[in-house]
Amino acid sequence: MKIPTSPYSGGGISVVINPATGQAVGEVGLAGLVETDDAIARAAAAYPQWKALAPADRAQLLRDFAAAVDAHTDELAALEVLNSGHTISNAVWEAGNVKNVLTYYSAAPERHFGKQIPVAGGVDITFHEPLGVVGIIVPWNFPMPIAGWGFAPALAAGNTVVLKPAEVTPLTAMRLGELATAAGIPDGVFTVIPGKGSVVGDRFVTHPAVRKVCFTGSTDVGKNIMRGCADQVKRLTLELGGKSANIVFADADLEKAAASAPGSAFDNAGQDCCARSRILVQDSVYDRFLTLLEQSVKEFSVTDPNDPRAQMGPMITAKQKAAVQSFIDGADVAFTGAEVPADGFWLSPTVALPRSEADPVWTQEIFGPVVAVMPFKTEEDAIRMANDTEYGLSGSIFTNDIGRALRVARGVESGNLSVNSHSSVRYWTPFGGFKQSGLGRELGPDAPDSFSDVKNVFIATE
Ligand code: NAP
Ligand code: MG
Repeated sequence: MKIPTSPYSGGGISVVINPATGQAVGEVGLAGLVETDDAIARAAAAYPQWKALAPADRAQLLRDFAAAVDAHTDELAALEVLNSGHTISNAVWEAGNVKNVLTYYSAAPERHFGKQIPVAGGVDITFHEPLGVVGIIVPWNFPMPIAGWGFAPALAAGNTVVLKPAEVTPLTAMRLGELATAAGIPDGVFTVIPGKGSVVGDRFVTHPAVRKVCFTGSTDVGKNIMRGCADQVKRLTLELGGKSANIVFADADLEKAAASAPGSAFDNAGQDCCARSRILVQDSVYDRFLTLLEQSVKEFSVTDPNDPRAQMGPMITAKQKAAVQSFIDGADVAFTGAEVPADGFWLSPTVALPRSEADPVWTQEIFGPVVAVMPFKTEEDAIRMANDTEYGLSGSIFTNDIGRALRVARGVESGNLSVNSHSSVRYWTPFGGFKQSGLGRELGPDAPDSFSDVKNVFIATE
């Protein structure tokens, strides 16, 4: 497989590792500060023409970009398996998600309407004006989808984009940059800049030509970026951590709840901000649920990510594995899943029983294949426990009582809830966090609005 080449070198070299084996798969040149400033300058220079392009022409270029991604689905998916250890079925879905998101927002340029507001003595109209250069900072857990959720609506709204992939997972983003160029996206309109967060990412925050930062990653780095953006009142979207609750009531379909829980907690080896990493089970069915859960966790397939049957692969890095292992070492483990290979950065799916509601395994975002299970008594208890966290990203509710489902869905302080399912993110519905899980929303019909500012124009007719 061809490893995309980087035109940069000023920030040194990153050795890209296959997390399933621990072996190096290639080297990527990283951008330094001067190269980053050059790329931002090219994005700023490309902006006036991209903004002025006829809506239908911008739409067509986005469809061409989507077609190029579609034609390279297998290659992108294979690169992601190699670089990130994602299961092949997930990686194919992820490449398809980029295509779908581009296609969805390719319909936005001709539909990004303003309003006509009744006024006396004239006509009042609003415009959604693009911002300029948008800087997108992507984490390593979903390199393709999170990139696309930023760049597709940003480009559709008439902005140019500079994008920094995570240093450990740059390959698919770099390939997407090449595919954009091959599809005819003009030079400077979409530039992928591999580099360090402290260099390239920080420059997006401090460079005055970058008018918006879209950040997904840890809450601590997100808070620093928010502080930095304040200096220029820079627009900002944050998608941060989570510690989401999966609430299982006694009247639920317990078999369905137990069968689906491993996927909701261990997909992508639990390296998912939406992971349902806390399971709350009503006390009268707690023992039975744990028995069913043990069965489904044991059956969860953890194997070579190239195997189409694989449901979980390795952790991303030795460092991330060690961080997760330290939580497991401090926890009461009820049971674990499949045995895992010794090479690479593997962990077995782990079910922990917190000693109290203050147990770190219950309160901290672990970002690995660890789920904690606790009993609750009443609906009020469940909502209180679910909300007893600084986070509020996702969550699930299993019950056959529709009134309860809606009451609890309204009661949980979280941006994305699913009832009797663990719905993943849909690109045509809004996604984002309450509380310290984030700021702003991505995806859905309104995403282009968050890549533009509203301008109001009054025209006197008298
Ligand atoms: P992170 O440091 O927040 O990294 C996310 C992105 O931000 C990467 O591209 C990173 O670049 C960049 N970055 C780092 N420092 C920066 C800075 N000062 N200015 C601008 N950009 C900066 O996350 P991590 O260290 O990789 O992971 C640590 C924890 O974060 C995880 O255990 C998990 O809890 C959480 N996390 C959450 C999500 C999510 O989806 N919400 C995703 C990933 C991680 P480089 O890493 O390339 O230097
Ligand atoms: Mg970091």
